[in-house]
Amino acid sequence: LPYPIIIARAFNQMKDAIKEYENDIFIALLDYQSDTLTTCEALDYLYSKSIPTLVYDDKFSNEAREEVLVHGALEYLLKKQNADLLYSTRLIDQVYKNRLIKAIIVDGSQRFRDELSINLKQFGLTSMQASDAYLAMDLLEQHPDVKIILIDEDFKGDIQGVDLVENIRLKYPTDQLVILGISPHGYNSKHSIEFLKKGANDFIIKPFIKEQLNLRIMQTLEMLNSVEEKRKLAATDFLTKLDNRRSLDTVVPSMINYAKETGLSLAVAMIDIDHFKLVNDTYGHGIGDEVLKFISTILKTSFRSGDLIVRNGGEEFCVILDKIDKEKSIQVLEKLREKIDKTLFKNEDLSLHITVSVGLFYGLKNSIDEMLNEADIQLYKAKNQGRNCLVSSI
Ligand code: GH3
Ligand code: MG
Ligand code: MG
Repeated sequence: LPYPIIIARAFNQMKDAIKEYENDIFIALLDYQSDTLTTCEALDYLYSKSIPTLVYDDKFSNEAREEVLVHGALEYLLKKQNADLLYSTRLIDQVYKNRLIKAIIVDGSQRFRDELSINLKQFGLTSMQASDAYLAMDLLEQHPDVKIILIDEDFKGDIQGVDLVENIRLKYPTDQLVILGISPHGYNSKHSIEFLKKGANDFIIKPFIKEQLNLRIMQTLEMLNSVEEKRKLAATDFLTKLDNRRSLDTVVPSMINYAKETGLSLAVAMIDIDHFKLVNDTYGHGIGDEVLKFISTILKTSFRSGDLIVRNGGEEFCVILDKIDKEKSIQVLEKLREKIDKTLFKNEDLSLHITVSVGLFYGLKNSIDEMLNEADIQLYKAKNQGRNCLVSSI
């Protein structure tokens, strides 16, 4: 497991460890003791500390399983079963991610909402409750970090479960928010299928056992996570780990709109390494790559957290700054140019003086391409003026 592990051999040791590391402990793996009382006492304690717990037994016992599930265990698993160990790894990983995930429960019955919220807590999820569709939509709006919503089929009000799913999907696509339908009417109910048709990721039939719920939550959140990871990968430059050119198209349009509405301008700078081909030709492509990473590191530490820094391609970078005036943007970029000029690139046997030229466009155009073009024109001038300098649009 890619997490540090603390081993406790007795109840008191466990308590001490929790006291010492409380906020860092996100899961407990508990060995089932034939002395059931000890196991349940430990489970109650872990539940009171909001620590999700997996219980492991040597051999399957139905009584043991029921006992530990009632006492708040997330799952009852067998030690020597490979399948269970694999499943554990997924569960642990999901519990780790769940610390940052919020859920909404929409159901007409307070009792059921409370039960479900206990189930979610045992899985490490924080949940909020809504008793009707309007409250659910309000919660979604107020909490953009909600990633999963569990919706019962019927509750009070004119919008019922299936229609709520339809409404939510108009705003929140499948790859941003998981919707899990809960159906009280069995598999034969037309509604269960309607949930999926309207855009729910999955549904579950009442009454369900905890493992079923956990599995469906885990599978749908894994899907969401894998989409998020792929999206991130597609927007990241492999060598420098900066955002790539493609990522501009997703972020800049809203920056342009915001600037239009508020009457502000954007600063768009093209930053190009001088005579980089010479670095490659003299020291090899590998050193060239190291120099690109070196420049990227300086870039990453030279701007505010909301500013966009992108590797445009090759040895060319682009920076987009908003909510900044022209003089300040020139100042910031000039400081960057100077910093690169003054910092030598070093490895075991080399020390290189690297410089960059900067073309700056300050203003606003309808598209990122138009603004990059303008910045490129200034960059061309900077190269012609002898490099290692900044030229700005008037
Ligand atoms: P100038 O000062 O006019 O910008 O000259 P330059 O040599 O920097 O520009 P030129 O466009 O002639 O050369 C850019 C070089 O960047 C050529 C290309 O092989 C190299 N390059 C592009 N991408 C990479 C990369 O990922 N790694 C390495 N090592 N080199 C790259
Ligand atoms: Mg160059
Ligand atoms: Mg270039």
